[in-house]
Amino acid sequence: MKVLIADDERIMRTLLRSALQGWGYEVVVAENGDQAWAALSGEDAPTLAVLDWIMPPGMTGPEVCRKVRELGREPYTYILLLTSKNTTSETVEGMEAGADDYVVKPFHNHELQVRLRAGKRIIDLQTELLEAREELRDRANKDLLTMLPNRSAIQDLLEQELSRCHREGRTVGVILLDLDHFKRINDTLGHLAGDTVLRETATRFRANMRTYDRIGRYGGEEFLVVLPNCDLEQATHQAERLRSKLAQPPVFVDGNQLSVTASFGVTVSDGCERSPEVLIRVADEALYRAKANGRNCVECLMIENSRAANEIGTARSAREL
Ligand code: GH3
Ligand code: MG
Ligand code: MG
Repeated sequence: MKVLIADDERIMRTLLRSALQGWGYEVVVAENGDQAWAALSGEDAPTLAVLDWIMPPGMTGPEVCRKVRELGREPYTYILLLTSKNTTSETVEGMEAGADDYVVKPFHNHELQVRLRAGKRIIDLQTELLEAREELRDRANKDLLTMLPNRSAIQDLLEQELSRCHREGRTVGVILLDLDHFKRINDTLGHLAGDTVLRETATRFRANMRTYDRIGRYGGEEFLVVLPNCDLEQATHQAERLRSKLAQPPVFVDGNQLSVTASFGVTVSDGCERSPEVLIRVADEALYRAKANGRNCVECLMIENSRAANEIGTARSAREL
């Protein structure tokens, strides 16, 4: 673990450095408060700090503490103040500034060691908690069968892309696709075989997309693709590409060679429509047409030609009247 030591006296810095290195810490050294603040507020900052109280010129230890707390970084910075002041009011002042603990100078090596260990324990626990929180957040956004973003996550991504592209005067392509006769696979080979097909579908799609395009599992066997900076022609071309990559080669499941296909509905934002719901409705209308046209094909539809979008538009206008 990386520890910052800040002291204006060279002899103290040397003492602290060799003690801490001896206890297995990676040591970063500052000669005054300003350097300490730069280290604690910078990239890859130490999460444990031993700060002298008075270290002219510049900020004192408590002042650095206060600024670190204002910054409110995660992970937390555990701060131990080194002080030759040993009155209650001064200790309280240091703790009020946000220090976690203090050691009185001249310090006793073993005391400093155990106090640092207590700080390390807190940082380690917090790191575990942060990792658990990240994991939970990740799970909440992920579909665990395909490991793609789930419905709400891909809708959020679409919303973000729509507002970003709107600001930049670009359009966003949207593809909604649905596997053809998927129920038959479940009915004939079982649900687990169906799951394998869904996973393989996700893998093939992911492997055939630009890195900044996004795909999510929108529903059972439906996927939503978000294509930033794409017009209708490019989005349709991409849908066609995904269609052919899924259709060939066949998917192998439990010794069976399955021909898996999907139908695709494509649309594009028109620069003023920023509602993900409307775009998804339009793509769904196009998808419905692809199913009606015999499946395993791509249909595209502009917002202005969509019945669903017109209905939503009419409803909106009526509400606004
Ligand atoms: P269409 O070409 O009209 O889309 O026909 P389809 O059979 O694909 O559509 P339908 O909506 O009739 O059936 C979809 C099936 O997908 C029904 C449902 O049980 C199945 N399904 C949904 N989620 C999962 C899943 O996570 N795993 C598996 N194995 N099947 C799923
Ligand atoms: Mg289907
Ligand atoms: Mg479906």
